[in-house]
Amino acid sequence: MARYTGPVCRLCRREGEKLFLKGEKCNKSICPITVRTLKKRGLQPGQHADARRRQMSEYGLQLREKQKAKRIYGVLETQFRNYYEEAARIKGVKGENLLRLLELRLDNIVFRLGYGRSRSEARQVVRHNLIRVNGKKINIPSYKCKKGDVIEVKTNALDYQRFKDVLDVTSGRTVPAWLDANHDKLSGTILQIPSRDQIDIQIHETLIVELYSK
Ligand code: SF4
Repeated sequence: MARYTGPVCRLCRREGEKLFLKGEKCNKSICPITVRTLKKRGLQPGQHADARRRQMSEYGLQLREKQKAKRIYGVLETQFRNYYEEAARIKGVKGENLLRLLELRLDNIVFRLGYGRSRSEARQVVRHNLIRVNGKKINIPSYKCKKGDVIEVKTNALDYQRFKDVLDVTSGRTVPAWLDANHDKLSGTILQIPSRDQIDIQIHETLIVELYSK
């Protein structure tokens, strides 16, 4: 599956805000958004960044919100639209359904449980055959998890130190209430499907729905 392989901080600069694409590293002072914010307000790459932001149309705002969501979850356009179409078919609020589908991706759950410092690292962990879902090896980052699924990290001597190092960094992270993490066993269970207020992503999903409803 294709994915973005360019510089990740550039994606935050383009959106003009921190998207926390590098996990805990983003809270350090090395974050270019912080440094730049102190120096000047123009965060977007490119010569005419400020002018672009001032002139943002309704369409532009909707587009940027969609881009933000795609970048946070590491999903490309076609797959994102497929998520939207699936969300539209499910009963309930489309935008909330969309975020729920993104949250239930296996790579996101591995990240949320603290077994990856960032979503991209969690994705790599999944791709490297290190994850079991209900005892079955799953190496598809977009695998859709469901309530009751038990996610485990396959451990052997080599990987265990790797995950201890990861947990050293992620231990301060709050595992969402809809997940139950067992860091001693390197596992976790999905207790429930998350509600919107349990998804701490700063996205205005209604703008995305408006964009795709045109
Ligand atoms: Fe974004 Fe993190 Fe890079 Fe800051 S350090 S620009 S939040 S990816």
